[in-house]
Amino acid sequence: MKHHRSETTSTADLSAKAAELFEDIRALSRDAAGVSRPAFSEIETETLDYLAKQARAEGICVEEDAGRNLLFYLPQHASAKRFTVIGSHVDSVPMGGNYDGLAGVIAGLMVLIAARRGLRDLSRPVRVLAMRGEESAWFGACYLGSKMLTGSLPEGEFNAAHKGDGRTLGAHLQALGINTAPIEAQEPICDLSQIEAYLELHIEQGPLLVERNIPAAVVTGIRGNFRYRDSRCIGQAGHSGAVPRAYRHDPVLAFAELMHRLDGTWQHLLNTGKDLVLTSGVVGTDPARHAIARIPDEIAFTLDIRSQDAGTLDQMRSYLKGEMADIARSRGVRFELGAEVAVAPALMDADLVQGLEAAMAEVTGEAFSMASGGGHDAAVFAQAGVPAGMVFVRNRNGSHNPEEAMEIADFMVGVDILSTYMEAAS
Ligand SMILES: [Zn+2]
Repeated sequence: MKHHRSETTSTADLSAKAAELFEDIRALSRDAAGVSRPAFSEIETETLDYLAKQARAEGICVEEDAGRNLLFYLPQHASAKRFTVIGSHVDSVPMGGNYDGLAGVIAGLMVLIAARRGLRDLSRPVRVLAMRGEESAWFGACYLGSKMLTGSLPEGEFNAAHKGDGRTLGAHLQALGINTAPIEAQEPICDLSQIEAYLELHIEQGPLLVERNIPAAVVTGIRGNFRYRDSRCIGQAGHSGAVPRAYRHDPVLAFAELMHRLDGTWQHLLNTGKDLVLTSGVVGTDPARHAIARIPDEIAFTLDIRSQDAGTLDQMRSYLKGEMADIARSRGVRFELGAEVAVAPALMDADLVQGLEAAMAEVTGEAFSMASGGGHDAAVFAQAGVPAGMVFVRNRNGSHNPEEAMEIADFMVGVDILSTYMEAAS
């Protein structure tokens, strides 16, 4: 005998289930501050194992793919040849927040659980994808899991060394038992033609939804970027009191001039209606050799430049190189940019944006759309030709830190948008 339960109670049960999943995973990946779920690590595997156990208890099928990611689906969709993927990543940055990535995976599971419990109709097949390895904190490059799935992992990234143990990504994959031959050959390790659409829910990483007091948003596009993790400007060391200005080759001033020029160009591009953000987040002279009375011989820095527009990124890249050459000449220094990691910008699929907006209007009374400043796996699928769509959920304090703060009520609005979209699409 089934108990008759009011819809309110069932919805409350669903949101309690989501809270339970978040808190259990927070506990299993807790670090000195926040959580740490390293890409392709044991903790990541434990997180996936936990999700698999929870899903099976709900009567949901679980399958591992060739990248040792997990796929979840309803039993009646086991043999579906085409499906919508709802996915995100389970790894986190070191001592990060619990919601970046994980929210998208649990949202997908909630869509399946709601259908299993008879709360929502899900007649169109969905595969929920829980991916490994999205954060660049571990191997220096991002979206590793989705790049492997879509056959777009560059050779340099396959051979990139782990920040902690120095072993390559390839070695880590092999240790997990993943067949790396197709990955090295840049062949997709899933059948992309089966994927009708890729949907991803993610916490917003900026302040817009909090500022505007809106629980969720539909994403229109994702900024691409190019980054240099290991750049240097090399000058000449000297005594701070003894070397006159004309004889100096000071890399700190050269770097400062570079940033000042880039900032001016940034302002100019914004004035002309272009989309751009740029950041040098790590800057320093060698702590073992620098001193108050010494002109340093070298400064190390990082650069991260992002835009929704590929043309603007190309323009900035050539501008950056031109300015470096100019400053190097005038100041007698040398710039070494080091290896570049780039991700092209990605527009979300227009039909999906429209469909998700309609779903959001139904759930909240009004649709709201915005661009994504951070990159996401959805961009990788979009570039592989899979129509992609995203939903943001309001979140305080940014992401990649223990203070990430997403309310479960907002999260459930996001889940509701996904469920409503899937119902309408059928
Ligand atoms: Zn993320």
